[in-house]
Amino acid sequence: MTTWLLKLGELTLKGKNLKSFESVLKRNLLAMLSSKGLSNVRVTTRNGRFYVYSAGGETENALVENVLCRLFGITGWARTVSCTKNVSDIMAVCVEEAKKLFESGAATYKVEARRADKSFPLDSYQICVSAGGAIAQAVGGLKVNVRNPDCIIYVEVREKVYVYSDAKKGLGGLPVGTAGRGLLLLSGGIDSPVAGFLMAGRGMGIDALHFHSYPYTSLEAKQKALDAAAVLGSYTMGLRLYVVAFTTVQLKIKESAPQSWITVLLRMAMMECAEKLAEKIKSKCLVSGESLSQVASQTIENLTCIQSRVNVPVLRPLIGSDKDSIITTARKIGSYEISIRPHQDCCMLFNPPHPVLHGDAAQAGQLYEALELSPLIDEALASCETVTCGC
Ligand code: ATP
Ligand code: MG
Repeated sequence: MTTWLLKLGELTLKGKNLKSFESVLKRNLLAMLSSKGLSNVRVTTRNGRFYVYSAGGETENALVENVLCRLFGITGWARTVSCTKNVSDIMAVCVEEAKKLFESGAATYKVEARRADKSFPLDSYQICVSAGGAIAQAVGGLKVNVRNPDCIIYVEVREKVYVYSDAKKGLGGLPVGTAGRGLLLLSGGIDSPVAGFLMAGRGMGIDALHFHSYPYTSLEAKQKALDAAAVLGSYTMGLRLYVVAFTTVQLKIKESAPQSWITVLLRMAMMECAEKLAEKIKSKCLVSGESLSQVASQTIENLTCIQSRVNVPVLRPLIGSDKDSIITTARKIGSYEISIRPHQDCCMLFNPPHPVLHGDAAQAGQLYEALELSPLIDEALASCETVTCGC
């Protein structure tokens, strides 16, 4: 039997609401395990810790750890060895852990103990000293270094004693589903999957909306959005992607609007369509991957034009991020390689050589109204395709 100990982060600050956050976390964890065929893996919760138990072999353990890497709401986790609260049992487990670490190349270590069960006769300092003594006797080559050790042996005294050394960092944040639902405008680019990931990390359930302009954009461009949605869905217990053909809307804008305004007007149309969909599927806000001044359509004036005709809040989690840090996150979550495939998104079509940089919202409104796009948007939305991606 393998046991993992999971540490909750921000969740623990939730006071009276802690139980409801914990129950969403547990539900998410069970759903993710079951989607990997691991319905037999057990999960229990006790005093601010989650425990996961698997009776399978290493292949199953690897799948469990793959799930833990993708679970919002935990700050860390570790495979543990557990034993009774008998002092000599604890020392024996610590010595075994130290031997393993020494054999795998560690030269220095320290012990960190935590006595959650205050009735245990040794306090945390005494546990560290005793474990250090036992390890010095049995594994003489491994030396104590409290400032900068190669490894740390953790001992947690709870209803049982848990010993571990390979502590992994979790994603942190809050469990998905504790902060309402948002509709992500998902392009084939680098930014929008990262924007969705960040909002999911604040507990938001994510639905996604992708616009394509087939046959002006390729099927491969649409596939990029499907694949990015699958990556995002692997952190959110699946994700529903709405795919809307925006060709007629885009052509009308291109034919009838001043060239320099094409991109801003297209974004306004996307927002109108997204707001209508959000209302239908009960999403509380729109989420986009816009970042201040990244491109001409993302100056503060143009962002104001773009959201000027919608009433639903537009969240832009990347507004203050630079491209390098967005790319770092995209690599971490696994969307980067998809996003850099060389297929053009519909926003790049008909891109004017000299776009308006500081659009006036009143003028944008007039130009937009003159286009009378609403019937085309309604039509596009009515024939939208729905795909469930990732799990
Ligand atoms: P990148 O900037 O890395 O090319 P991006 O997804 O941010 O990718 P932008 O052109 O900067 O692309 O678009 C700004 C935002 O507008 C996107 O983050 C996304 O939220 C939304 N968006 C753009 N194109 C589409 C699209 N085809 N479908 C849905 N949303 C889109
Ligand atoms: Mg961008």
